[in-house]
Amino acid sequence: MALIVQKYGGTSVGTTERIKNVAQRVARFKAQGHQVVVVVSAMSGETNRLIGLAKGIQSNPDPREMDVLVATGEQVTIALLSMALMEMGLKAKSYTGAQVRILTDNAFTKARILSIDEENLRRDLNAGYVAVVAGFQGVDERGNITTLGRGGSDTTGVALAAALKADECQIYTDVDGVYTTDPRIVPEARKLKTITFEEMLEMASLGSKVLQIRSVEFAGKYKVKLRVLSSFEEEGEGTLITFEEDAMEQPIISGIAFNRDEAKVTVLGVPDRPGIAYAILGPVAEANIDVDMIIQNVGADGTTTDFTFTVHRNEFAKALGILKAAQGSIGAREVKGDDKITKVSLVGVGMRSHSGIASSMFKTLAAEGINIQMISTSEIKISVVIDEKYLELAVRVLHKAFNLEHAA
Ligand code: ASP
Ligand code: MG
Repeated sequence: MALIVQKYGGTSVGTTERIKNVAQRVARFKAQGHQVVVVVSAMSGETNRLIGLAKGIQSNPDPREMDVLVATGEQVTIALLSMALMEMGLKAKSYTGAQVRILTDNAFTKARILSIDEENLRRDLNAGYVAVVAGFQGVDERGNITTLGRGGSDTTGVALAAALKADECQIYTDVDGVYTTDPRIVPEARKLKTITFEEMLEMASLGSKVLQIRSVEFAGKYKVKLRVLSSFEEEGEGTLITFEEDAMEQPIISGIAFNRDEAKVTVLGVPDRPGIAYAILGPVAEANIDVDMIIQNVGADGTTTDFTFTVHRNEFAKALGILKAAQGSIGAREVKGDDKITKVSLVGVGMRSHSGIASSMFKTLAAEGINIQMISTSEIKISVVIDEKYLELAVRVLHKAFNLEHAA
């Protein structure tokens, strides 16, 4: 007998028919003698619909009320799924975040989990119940409803698995695992049997939206065995997210991630003196804008420097505005921006022990006449910024050049 936490995303519970299918899958696991905790998202589109309603009333909705509102989406699905389980003759009980007592801080709309009281759940499981828990929501010390940020049900699932010391956390979604890259761009993309946590973190943060990045961080920290599977397939092992030390031999490159949401801001001709990076990025940080890549090069005259950084496209206009306003005080010759860029990254823990990956990547892009605007690297990834019009071409040629359609 194992204790399994299963999380079902919005499309998997998008209709009452699909909710019944989820109930059937849960019943199969119960029939095998396992204890099951189910975490569900709101029905697909529901969270967006609720946010839309709020924005029809307040252009900048009050965060506390926003959380009261959007938390209702998951309250609907826990009740419906519990009913569907009962209809199949199972014992089931729904829980809101507050009823479990998933205690969070009070950062409305992006709260963090502080602790989970797993006793009630444990008692129900031992009494033969399926516990159905609302994803995405918690409660703060004072009893206010909080939510964990978009996609937060993944984090609820992993956090519950950690608190209950579950044998496995299964994330059911509309894809059957993690792929070498987006199959819509590269039809030959291959499903990975395993991927390491570090790689998954890179893939998630670089824009492969299979799992909420915080859930992956959480799983890594608490060593939760995490698996991504399709809720629309009867069989299949999905993709298991492993710890590097468990893996036998690593392929050099596991996948190619890309992020269409980037934009870059360039500050030209600033005096090359101590404090200049701070003068440029300080106001950006103060406005709570996350900066991703940064490049600084000394100009030809040796006294000025050019500074380029990337931000999320949503914050491009704001970042550009801040720097245009600061242009005079920084002493910059010019401030300009480009939001028609994209970031493409090769990810693989095997890179640690292999050299020459970067140069093969650059050679492959050069052969297609794709200009690289920025480069950044870590031990397990190489990212380049290119013109967005070359995104699909770049991903396709790199997938081929690194032989990703064939298992290593
Ligand atoms: N319903 C929430 C959202 O759409 C949480 C989730 O689905 O994970 O972001
Ligand atoms: Mg989701």
